[in-house]
Amino acid sequence: MRVRFAPSPTGRLHVGGARTAIFNWLLARRWGGEFVLRIEDTDRSRSTTNNTKAIIDELTWLGIHWDAGPVFQGDNVGRHREAATRLLAEGRAYRDFASPASLREEAARRGCHPSRIARERAMELTKGESDRKASRGDPYAIRFLVPDGETVVDDLVRGPVRFGHRDVDDLVILRSNGTPTYNLAATVDDAEAGITHVVRGEDHLSNTPKQALLYRALRLPAPSFAHVPLILGTDGSRLSKRHGARSVEEYADDGILPEALFNFLALLGWNPGDGREVMSRPELVRAFTLERVGAKGAVFDEEKLHWLNGRHLARKPTEELLGLVRSKLPPTASASEERRLRSAIDLYKTRSRTVARLAEQIVPVVGEEVVYQEKAVKKHLSKDPAAALYRLEALAGLVYVCPWDADELDAGIRRLAVAEGVGPGKYFHLLRVAMVGKLASADILQILLTVGRKRTIDRLRAARDMAKSGAGARPLGP
Ligand code: GLU
Repeated sequence: MRVRFAPSPTGRLHVGGARTAIFNWLLARRWGGEFVLRIEDTDRSRSTTNNTKAIIDELTWLGIHWDAGPVFQGDNVGRHREAATRLLAEGRAYRDFASPASLREEAARRGCHPSRIARERAMELTKGESDRKASRGDPYAIRFLVPDGETVVDDLVRGPVRFGHRDVDDLVILRSNGTPTYNLAATVDDAEAGITHVVRGEDHLSNTPKQALLYRALRLPAPSFAHVPLILGTDGSRLSKRHGARSVEEYADDGILPEALFNFLALLGWNPGDGREVMSRPELVRAFTLERVGAKGAVFDEEKLHWLNGRHLARKPTEELLGLVRSKLPPTASASEERRLRSAIDLYKTRSRTVARLAEQIVPVVGEEVVYQEKAVKKHLSKDPAAALYRLEALAGLVYVCPWDADELDAGIRRLAVAEGVGPGKYFHLLRVAMVGKLASADILQILLTVGRKRTIDRLRAARDMAKSGAGARPLGP
């Protein structure tokens, strides 16, 4: 098995392209095949080296490695021309001397496809006339002469698909400027690379009869085809930027993990059949088959991506998250010592859906600055400042002397509550506001241990000052 991913470097790698790459890669890994990367850069005006570089970086980030390539389609133009000339010499293609504008105009007038006019005009010329015009230097495109009949493509996802040739236009295979068109270039390159399976988006289905005809005309062995379903937005229409779909790079910037995006995209149009959803790359490789790719459109649900990301985040060794999280922290917090950072990540990785959110949540744990949420301050500090002051003093006293251990701290706080005759929640909530400025956090005692005794005392003091002077003595957040 030899498969390929053949992006056009006219933009970044979007989710549809990434999904195609993933399916091909999984297939190759599953069956011990080879995965070829081909950059389809024949459209020189829209292809850029920056885009090529971005696509390569995005594939690499996703963990997709190729066994051959990157092959640049533009380097093979000689072979494409040779194939077009051969088809011309064998009478399977013809010269089209007409200007596209004149073809369009007549086609519009007669209500048919421009290629029909092109064929008629070409047939009006004798071979001698056509050769003379060509040698005189008249510009011409080469069009493939689509024979009568029909082509049946046995699609590995959709089953047999019939195409009547009446619906297939005589396609241009070589433009008048000597550049090949996509269908010719892809056919020649796939054959040359020995591609056995072409797996690509359903949007290419209409190209398949053209390519099948070209394989036949060029007497090249054709690969099997599999067209994977379109990706749809939650409203059922084809996924686009309008739905908030972004490039792989943008998801990376948002703190989505590569293994989560990979997992999510693998599940767009495919499923393992046993209800599993959170899957690692090796698990996906073991389970992937084309038989389980559906023909129906697959809905892109960003909510699910975030959920999956949270699951992968929780599974990922903290060691591997350190650098990522640090890069998302504000400068004051990113300087935090490694021990504190590690334990903060341990505490919060099961409570966050993205790396960005994880970083945001651990700021009060790893940094020096606490931003107090107004509603938290109101609820636990300023509503009854006298009680808050009393409890903060008691907590400070406890923290000062208590063995620095979660069980000891827990027992100590509970004793304070019993002594005052209130529930322990009064103390724990207050402690949380003092430590992180919020109503919710990871295990507050673990946070204490991570932040350390001295800083804990400082924060209790700061909270005490706030209770004394009313809210506003410290920066207040939303
Ligand atoms: N360059 C084409 C694209 O990006 C590839 C089509 C194919 O896989 O044959 O859509």
